[in-house]
Amino acid sequence: MIDIVLATRNKNKIREFKVLFAECQTDVNVLSLDDIGYFGDIEEGGETFEENAKIKASVPAKMGYIGIADDSGLCVDALGGAPGVYSARFSGGDDEDNNDLLLNKLENEENRKAKYVCAIACVFPDHSNDFCVTGECHGEILRERQGTGGFGYDPLFYFPEFDKTFAQIDLSEKNKVSHRAIALRALVEKLKRVLPNDK
Ligand code: IMP
Repeated sequence: MIDIVLATRNKNKIREFKVLFAECQTDVNVLSLDDIGYFGDIEEGGETFEENAKIKASVPAKMGYIGIADDSGLCVDALGGAPGVYSARFSGGDDEDNNDLLLNKLENEENRKAKYVCAIACVFPDHSNDFCVTGECHGEILRERQGTGGFGYDPLFYFPEFDKTFAQIDLSEKNKVSHRAIALRALVEKLKRVLPNDK
């Protein structure tokens, strides 16, 4: 078993990574920052999803572990890719405020195209095999909220393939097509090639 440290305190993400690694029959033991005794905060000062993911994954790597971390957000065409890395902090308030601000900014906009992006970085203590993978999921921003599931911008994010928003589908359905699922699958494929003891 190879220990890999997921640089997050988000329990949902830790579970999601553990499930995926198990499904892919990897010989990986997923640890959290708490597990390795790191209780500090990590500043996300990067300008891209990749930079932020690398900043976070470098924390366990500096402590001698293989580190992985993700960073994600919504990029809206008509807003030049905003809110992007500022997705969580777009309005300065909560998810509801973020969605209100997004609707406001797109009020007179015909181009509603948007995508969710997820970057996952993997950083080694000696940087010998560092890499970053990304996943994207394309959709449109509706003019009003639809559905009550999901989180963040999901009630406004219409996914044409399902003819529904991400707030109107089950988590299991979302996990088949989401930006995070795509990036996670790419991560596992890449890890299988760089980890010597992988099954
Ligand atoms: P983080 O990568 O978990 O920090 O997510 C950053 C922010 O991007 C979240 O707070 C949400 O606003 C947005 N976001 C990322 N992924 C999703 C998603 O799957 N649905 C809705 N919002 C998302």
